[in-house]
This record gives sequence, C-alpha cells and structure tokens, in this order.
Amino acid sequence: MNGKVAPIGEKKKIALIAHDNKKADLLEWVKFNKGTLLKHELFATGTTGDILEKELCSNITKLQSGPLGGDQQIGARIAEGAIDFLIFFWDPLEPLPHDPDIKALLRLAVVWNIPVACNRSSADFIISSPLMNQTYPRIIPDYDTYRQRFKDKRL
Ligand code: PGA
Repeated sequence: MNGKVAPIGEKKKIALIAHDNKKADLLEWVKFNKGTLLKHELFATGTTGDILEKELCSNITKLQSGPLGGDQQIGARIAEGAIDFLIFFWDPLEPLPHDPDIKALLRLAVVWNIPVACNRSSADFIISSPLMNQTYPRIIPDYDTYRQRFKDKRL
C-alpha cells in the first residue's frame, strides 16, 4: 500500500464501546483481559466507561454517551491520531437512533487504518497478538492527492 507510516506505539490508545445489549459481553471480555488492558490508555463512551471503570478500578477517559455524540467524539480523536485502536461491540439486531454516527465511526477507523474488533472473537485475536507489545508501523494511505485536488483548479 502506498502511504505514510504513522506508528501505533507500544502503549496503545484504546477506545472501548458497547451497545446496551452487548455491555455484559464487553464487561466479561474486559474482566478476562484486565491485566493487558491496564498497560494501555483507555477511552470509552459514557455509559460503557462508567461500567468498565468499576471493574478496572482505573481511570478511563470518558466521553459523551454514544447517542449523545460519544461515537463522534471517538471518531474525531481517531482522525486526530489521539485514539489508535477500537473495540466496538455493536448490536447487529437493533436499529439505534445514532446509526449514522456508528457508521461514521467505523468508516473513520478504516480511513485511518486502525485495528477494529466488533465482536468477541476478533477482540480475542487482536489482544493476543504479539503486536500488542510492540510498536506497529501502521501505514496510512497517502491522502495528499485527495487534499490537493483543487489546488490548481479554477472554479
Ligand atoms: P454508551 O454509548 O457507552 O454511552 O452506552 C455506546 C453507544 O451506544 O454507542
């Protein structure tokens, strides 16, 4: 892939989100992986963050609740390079009022080429990867051509 290297450091900035029907699943996963997760910097949408903080007994940067803008805040941080890893247990069986925000968040995760797990088995594979303990040379596609597209055009 043509692009620029934007490394993901050894200490990952991980966002955790679970829809209401998936909160128990995420909590169980977090309990199981507590030791590993505590080595990293954690972010979460509001309600997910409240639940996980109790379990982890550790500071999580909590943003707004998802339907109140939390998913968009996480998306913005991905675009700024302030979050480089997403665990998002979204609910495939329920339409939600903030479906457009969810789609936008997943889209930005792809745009910026960050690791994303949307279910338990993906999350298990990701967290047990040797790459969790080292810097990863993430490649961001070269968006300069896109940014420059109007540079020499007269409108
Ligand atoms: P919540 O938001 O953690 O505040 O419940 C999650 C979501 O619905 O995106």
